[in-house]
Amino acid sequence: MADFAMTIDGAAVPGGGLPVRNPATAEVFAQAPACTPEQLDQAVAAAARAYESWQHDDDARRAVLRQAAGTILASVSELAPLLTAEQGKPRSEAATEVRAAGAWLRYYAELEIPREVVQDDQRGFAEVLRRPLGVVAAITPWNYPIALALWKIAPALRAGNTMVLKPSPYTPLATLALGRLLSEVLPPGVLNVVSGPDPLGALLTGHPAVRKISFTGSAATGRQVAAAAAADLKRVTLELGGNDPAIVLDDADPEAIADALFWGAFANNGQMCMAVKRVYVARPRYQEVVAALAERARTVRVGDGSEKASRLGPISNRAQFDRVQDLVRDALAHGAVAAAGGAALERPGYFFAPTILAGLSDGVRVVDEEQFGPVLPVIAYRDVDEAVRLANGTDFGLTASVWSPDLERAAAVAARLQAGQVSVNVHAGAVRPDLPFSGHKASGIGVENGLWGLYGYTDVQALTRPAIGY
Ligand code: NAD
Repeated sequence: MADFAMTIDGAAVPGGGLPVRNPATAEVFAQAPACTPEQLDQAVAAAARAYESWQHDDDARRAVLRQAAGTILASVSELAPLLTAEQGKPRSEAATEVRAAGAWLRYYAELEIPREVVQDDQRGFAEVLRRPLGVVAAITPWNYPIALALWKIAPALRAGNTMVLKPSPYTPLATLALGRLLSEVLPPGVLNVVSGPDPLGALLTGHPAVRKISFTGSAATGRQVAAAAAADLKRVTLELGGNDPAIVLDDADPEAIADALFWGAFANNGQMCMAVKRVYVARPRYQEVVAALAERARTVRVGDGSEKASRLGPISNRAQFDRVQDLVRDALAHGAVAAAGGAALERPGYFFAPTILAGLSDGVRVVDEEQFGPVLPVIAYRDVDEAVRLANGTDFGLTASVWSPDLERAAAVAARLQAGQVSVNVHAGAVRPDLPFSGHKASGIGVENGLWGLYGYTDVQALTRPAIGY
């Protein structure tokens, strides 16, 4: 078993105590360190010390972040296999995730931050400045550990903050390796990476020296994070869950949309905050859409992510596997029909057959709750008003899509949907570093990506002075 180390104040801090399983075998294959409360204090203190100088020189930060982007992009072959082993995703997708992380860092290194001068005349001068906050606690989930870490690291560090990053206990390894790699280019203390079983996350969010929490994970944990932040009014960004609807209009061609719709739901084995989680189909198209999706679910290659032919891996951990199984059994017990799949695969590891559920409606758990797995309920609707009402009938509001060859008609329906990102004829296809990503309603607070994301790691400061030279 390889050794994995935390990064605290630039130094490698090895340890054990956090066993990590490969979901393709269900076997423990590595140990990660279990951070002690004293080590967490050291990490936060190191970040606070590093902040004293890191906050001041934007040009220096840009140069270091450019170098760090190069380090990540040169490390794909080291990080991607680790990601596959701990998370389950196919190797090519793991490589894509690592490359995207490098691209995010490069984007923020190159981003021009505009000056915001409000007044500049003979009566005076006023400018809005964006000040960094200090130590940021970054907490990530297990579905995209590296990409989502960089969604936080890149804007937070560029804005002048320092960070303590804590990955999910299910997937700490690639993030720990990332911390070691970046310690070669970042000044000590700027990025600390700690790992361990919970309550490490709660210890970090409750730490008095932390000034901002950037959290990606479930809505249930997000509420606990918000409560912890309230105690001393830490800033928060919460990127939470979703129950993302796709609406197929009555003029859509089922065969033409089926590939994009299928992958919108099943990429990363459905373990994607912005995956399609419910499909609403106009009644005349219902059977055809179910059949087209079921055909793809039956034929897609499921296997160990380290095998080249695998397009879908296992579910990432036992708890999620149990939840998906439970939701499918509940749906079948309530009259749903499995047009494809419907059960776990008979093999070691957490493999579940890609499942298309038909013949069900809202009010069944798999429709009402976020399944976060390779299961897609398909529901018939009578008219567009009903589809919009059902799509919006959830506390969540992350992403949504509408499918039709009539782009203007589809965009008009999309505009009625309550979600931070809406799209036409694609779902979750528009993830870019320069486009804001955010949840409406219970899907989150705050924004990631673009200038909007960077501003989330700052406080506004208004500077006024008398006019000079008028
Ligand atoms: P989770 O909420 O169980 O855990 C997320 C992280 O929070 C982990 O690192 C965990 O250790 C930590 N944590 C647990 N309890 C904590 C506490 N009390 N205080 C602070 N941290 C704590 O989520 P998960 O199961 O790892 O991830 C799946 C969820 O994440 C899904 O709901 C998914 O939709 C959501 N997600 C959202 C986005 C987005 O951008 N909106 C992206 C990816 C995943």
